[in-house]
Amino acid sequence: MRCPYCGDDANRVVDSRLGRDEAEIRRRRECLECGRRFTTRERVEDVLPKLVKRDERREDFDRRKLLASIERACAKRPVSIDALERLADRIEKRLQETGQTEVASEQMGEWVLEDLTSVDLLSAARFASVFRSFESAEDYVAFFASARPHRYDAEAGFEGFAADASPTPLVTVQDGSGSEARRRPS
Ligand SMILES: [Zn+2]
Repeated sequence: MRCPYCGDDANRVVDSRLGRDEAEIRRRRECLECGRRFTTRERVEDVLPKLVKRDERREDFDRRKLLASIERACAKRPVSIDALERLADRIEKRLQETGQTEVASEQMGEWVLEDLTSVDLLSAARFASVFRSFESAEDYVAFFASARPHRYDAEAGFEGFAADASPTPLVTVQDGSGSEARRRPS
C-alpha cells in the first residue's frame, strides 16, 4: 500500500476498526518515510460473486451503483439514507451467502425488489417499473396485488409474513426511517 503523499510503500498500521456494516475494515496507517497518516479500507466485495447481465457480460458488484438505483426509486419518499445503506448491506450479504462465483444480475434485482417492498411499497413499485419494464397501469395493479413485504435475514431466513392463512390484522412495517406504516398484508 503506497503512501498517497510520498509514494513510499513502507507503513505501519496504527489503528484498525470495523466499518458500520461490519463488512469493511478501516486501517489507519502511518507512512514510515514521511510520517503522514492515511486510511485504507478493505471490503468483502473482493469475494462477492460476479454479476451476469442479460447479455452474458460479467460485472463486478458495485455497491454505489446499487445504492444509486435504489435511491432513484426512493426519491422523495420517506426513506432514510441509512435505510438504503442497510438494504444494500443485506443485498451484499445475500450475494456473499450464495457461495457462488456468479449470480444473475436479474436475481439480484429480484432480491432488491423483494427487500424494498418491505421498506417502502411505493418505492418498490417504482423500482419494479424500471426493473420489469412496466408498460401499463395494469402492470402496477398486478404488482400491488402480489407484493408481499418480507425481508431476508441471514440468521432467520425470510422473516415477517409467513404464508399462513390465519387472518392477520394490520401489521406494523418498519421503513427504517423511524416512521411506521400500517399495512394490511394481502
Ligand atoms: Zn509518505
